[in-house]
Amino acid sequence: MKTGLLPWQQASFEKWLARSGYFPPALLIHGPSGTGKVSFAMHLARALLCESAHGKPCGECPACHWFEAEHHPDIRVLDPNQPADDDHQAKGNGQILVDDIRSLQDFLALSSHRLGKRLVLLLHAETLNLSAANALLKSLEEPTPATHFILVTHVPGRLPATVRSRCQSLLLPGPRREEALQWLVEQSIDRPETFLDLSGGSPLDALHLSRMDVGSRVSWLKALSDPHVSLTRLSAMTSKIPVKEWVDWLHKWVHDLLEQKVTGRIRYHSDLSELSTRISHQAGLYDLLVLESQLKEAKRWLHHPLNERLLAESLLMPFMTMR
Ligand SMILES: [Zn+2]
Repeated sequence: MKTGLLPWQQASFEKWLARSGYFPPALLIHGPSGTGKVSFAMHLARALLCESAHGKPCGECPACHWFEAEHHPDIRVLDPNQPADDDHQAKGNGQILVDDIRSLQDFLALSSHRLGKRLVLLLHAETLNLSAANALLKSLEEPTPATHFILVTHVPGRLPATVRSRCQSLLLPGPRREEALQWLVEQSIDRPETFLDLSGGSPLDALHLSRMDVGSRVSWLKALSDPHVSLTRLSAMTSKIPVKEWVDWLHKWVHDLLEQKVTGRIRYHSDLSELSTRISHQAGLYDLLVLESQLKEAKRWLHHPLNERLLAESLLMPFMTMR
């Protein structure tokens, strides 16, 4: 679990400290995707549980050490994207389910181990399904003393209004482009601008993409656009790439083709602008719009088991006529 503040969060944290010191029973941290909200939430959690009472995590007390080792007994983290490795975690199916919320009951009923404070962190809170949200609402409406919930999301609007209204809201702005680039340079990634564009301006996603992208994105998109590469060969190439990755590349590719057609600019695959200019001239606007919505739909199924070869062929087929 990432902790520690990112450079562009320093001001928000100072502002938070300058408040009265009151920590609300429920806090909703929201802001743009891929900008480090989880790191910030973990930093607040660590500050709350730190036993030095400085407001900032001291890094030296037992609580800080436990926190670092991910063994602090008074915190629970629900992350729908983490596979379950014990009874306290969500099941990794992309949603926070009612059982995940119920599994907190024992934790909330026991007395805390250290300072008397207890903390529950809900990551990707927008994935709470309706019954989970209702179960959570009960806890928020009848708060256990010294218990704090921190919810983290990039789409607060997807949370039920009843849950939102119980939370104090904290908007965490993302970095400016120069700040994001500076940080990426410090992470020593190659072509930071390319990956920042590819991520749509989210530095953490850019870092992730740069680590995943060992030349396969560029060669795959070139193959997709090469009339000499058959659908069979393309499918074989595609089967070696995680489905989440190539569907995302393809979605951004279609977005670029559309934008190229309409505005003459592109947003994501900025290192392939010549290729996208050529393909966008050959592609029909209507076909691209249909593909855009098919890809959006495909992204929603990715959590379910699916036949990846069929998915690849049905999504890649239309590109054969564009090259
Ligand atoms: Zn400490």
